Amino acid sequence: MAEIRIENVRKEFGSFVAVQGSTLTIEDGTFFVMLGPSGCGKTTTLRMIAGLELPSSGRILLDGEDVTMRRAAARDIAFVFQMYALYPHMDVRGNIGFPLRCQGVPRAEVRQRVAETARLLRIGHLLDRPVSALSGGDRQRVALGRAIVREPKAFLMDEPLGALDTEFRHLMCTELRDLHDRLGATTVYVTHDQLEAMSMADRIAVMRHGVIEQFGPPQDLYDRPATMYVADFLGSPPMNFLAFQGAVGRGDRRVMIDGAEVPVPELREDRGEGPLALGVRPEHVRFDDAAPLRGEVVGAEYMGTTQIVTVATAGGALKARIPSNRVVRSGERVGLAFRSAGLSLFDAASGRALRSALHDLAPVEFAAGGVRHG
Ligand code: ATP
Repeated sequence: MAEIRIENVRKEFGSFVAVQGSTLTIEDGTFFVMLGPSGCGKTTTLRMIAGLELPSSGRILLDGEDVTMRRAAARDIAFVFQMYALYPHMDVRGNIGFPLRCQGVPRAEVRQRVAETARLLRIGHLLDRPVSALSGGDRQRVALGRAIVREPKAFLMDEPLGALDTEFRHLMCTELRDLHDRLGATTVYVTHDQLEAMSMADRIAVMRHGVIEQFGPPQDLYDRPATMYVADFLGSPPMNFLAFQGAVGRGDRRVMIDGAEVPVPELREDRGEGPLALGVRPEHVRFDDAAPLRGEVVGAEYMGTTQIVTVATAGGALKARIPSNRVVRSGERVGLAFRSAGLSLFDAASGRALRSALHDLAPVEFAAGGVRHG
């Protein structure tokens, strides 16, 4: 078991900066997910933790010990690559036992540990099968088994479910999380899929252009995004942003959008005039004839018990998730009310969230703007 800490870790490839001075602590036993679009620096960060890439500057600590210069094999961390990277000429037993045989572990012990691992992964009945005869999911379990059997201090996984279809991915997410809970080892998992991240993680770091934008439990990031980027990356459909010009300041409890007064959580910081954006998640929008903010229905997508209705407003298009039994017509004028506990206000120029009563509920770990993680 291990606590992993990265301190001011930066990685340059020539003149290109792939990771820009990240600092964070991944507590022992955490399921930690690095989330972000392709090219944001997730894999590079993971490879530096594994010891497969040397940071240009900064330190990597494992249980408080500086391992920055230590080679990968000496870090006691298992890197689960694309799970299909198995040895095709070996059977399941041979694949899972391979790392132990490399370490010179006695044959009887290898046999016993392989059998235990296979039982844990529910593939005990497949031990003598060639891996080429396995389904995609079982191959992934074997690849996981090869990592688990070493009993490493931590697991690093890079988009391990990327090649699977949606239904199977969902199943494997549940299995991976369940496995993590049984093993209790620190897991660092990289993905660009926010649903995967939200469903498995204890803590998520959202990355963008080599910078960690926000770091915290999934619900904190979802409910109290530190930036418009994070708000937009999480949620399906993502958070709506209603653009408006205004002057807001400490103590304000309402904003004016297109002449309509909209209650917001009390602001905790002063802010001059300028472009602002009100952030509201689709599920926090309600149609209310008495609401002063108005819009026109331009489309609806049926989702089963709910529907996603798109409404054109003076601040831009807004999506509302409402019950399907509310009949909506294209062109219909509707009043829009928001659950104020779910509202965020952003400085539209910087994309940064303005502090409000919402943020008093739980500490939000801001990364943008150079605030460091503990
Ligand atoms: P993906 O999911 O596409 O792998 P990522 O977020 O994991 O994305 P990284 O693989 O960490 O991103 O890459 C970050 C940036 O660094 C990318 O622009 C990539 O092209 C660049 N990069 C990564 N490795 C190298 C390298 N060895 N030489 C030059 N540039 C590199």
